Amino acid sequence: MSTCADPNDDARPPAVEVSANARPADAEWAALARLAQAHFGVAAALLTRAGGDGQRLLASSGPLPVALPPDLFAFSQAGGNLLDTVVVVPDTHADERFQSRAIPMRAAGATSDAPSRWPRFFAACAVTASSGRHLGALCLLDHTPRTFDNAQRAFLHELAGLAADAIERVESVTALRARVGELEACAELVTLALAGSGTGVWDRDIPSGTIRYSLEWKAMLGYAPHDLTDRIEDAIARLHPDDVDYVRAAMQAHFENQTQTYSVEHRIRCKDGRYKWICSRGKVVSRDSEGRALRMVGTSTDITELKRVEAELQELATIDFLTQLPNRRHFIMQSEAELVRLRGVRGYVSAVLMFDLDHFKGLNDRWGHALGDRALSHFAALLREEVRAGDIVGRVGGEEFAMVLPGASVEAAVVLAQRVQQRVLQTPMMHGDVAIVMTVSVGIDSMRADDTGAYQSLSRGDEALYAAKARGRNRIEVYGAEARE
Ligand code: GH3
Ligand code: MG
Ligand code: MG
Repeated sequence: MSTCADPNDDARPPAVEVSANARPADAEWAALARLAQAHFGVAAALLTRAGGDGQRLLASSGPLPVALPPDLFAFSQAGGNLLDTVVVVPDTHADERFQSRAIPMRAAGATSDAPSRWPRFFAACAVTASSGRHLGALCLLDHTPRTFDNAQRAFLHELAGLAADAIERVESVTALRARVGELEACAELVTLALAGSGTGVWDRDIPSGTIRYSLEWKAMLGYAPHDLTDRIEDAIARLHPDDVDYVRAAMQAHFENQTQTYSVEHRIRCKDGRYKWICSRGKVVSRDSEGRALRMVGTSTDITELKRVEAELQELATIDFLTQLPNRRHFIMQSEAELVRLRGVRGYVSAVLMFDLDHFKGLNDRWGHALGDRALSHFAALLREEVRAGDIVGRVGGEEFAMVLPGASVEAAVVLAQRVQQRVLQTPMMHGDVAIVMTVSVGIDSMRADDTGAYQSLSRGDEALYAAKARGRNRIEVYGAEARE
């Protein structure tokens, strides 16, 4: 039997945390403890909560012990069986389980030198959740040994049931509050991240034709919170006219499940009337039973600066990134060098060919800009395969390509142009199972020693190309000659 502990002694068990009863839940627990103490006429009643690292006190009435009683229910969770869930120790001095454990008591709020007394009587009922989980115990302590009859056991069991309800209620509210707190923190993080990265969020309701934007989305384009309507037709009217068709096509393709996600780069009108490049990505998040898209959620990111740098780099580079062919600037430089060479050799000729893909805008509009890009590299690859070392080839415009064939006659150029047209027809680009057939118009002329610059032969080639377009496309025209197939 240990001796009376000085409550201020450092060696004493950890101080029991008693909450300030600030929350109504604590008041409910305290009321239960008071009711138990008053009903049974004991010195103290405690409500404890079992946890992984021992018990803690939820509420008490009467003098507080400096240490909690042992958790006699930790290993026997019979749940519901009165005999198992109520433990009565008429005299702790005669019970082994209490021999090693002092349970001194001191009055609540008493000064440290108040006399400590020892509870002799101990009774407790397990507090068990409806799921059978062990929650804690409702304990009675008294200074003198006493008996406890069956009616008293039954009533203690009933109070413990009320305590279980109260604990479960409070804990589920606390857990919900914590979850709400986490969600709020998460939402704040997303908002901060989006704001910092020049990204806004949108949410489109497809059947009603409405779209909602986050404040960041509006701010990115200079709009105030109440500036925009939620109508989808107004959203489409803000798109750059050249981008409307492929944005619609990309969206339709995703609605029809042809693509995993919706993703397009396009221009959009800001409040000040200027256009900004944005990258919009989204995904249909709900469909009806027939697979029709109902709701799509996504983001828009400002890529204006990226586009500007891209254009600048493209300007500086000699190779066109998309097709890996020399770009216009580089092609013209090489053509100028060829003209200089040609002037120096009497009777030397070089042919110039201008290629322009037919109805390319229609291809973009039908299949989207990304596929249009693939078509351009597909055509460039075919072109590259047809030229010999020393030939000059380049991408001189969006869907315009050009060649200078050093030492080649116009007739030889026509033969090459025919081969290119055949290859284009015979090697369609595949999009899934669909073969996308393109055609190309060609204009041809030769460089002349008296040309003042390469641009002159190129523009004669262009003129012949224009004639090929005017005469029905998928044709080869030689400058100043009759139409040829
Ligand atoms: P035509 O038969 O008269 O040549 O008709 P077209 O539609 O080919 O000619 P138009 O000049 O009207 O359109 C050219 C299209 O090429 C419009 C433009 O959006 C597209 N284009 C230009 N550069 C690119 C590019 O880098 N990628 C994609 N996907 N499309 C491009
Ligand atoms: Mg074209
Ligand atoms: Mg063109």
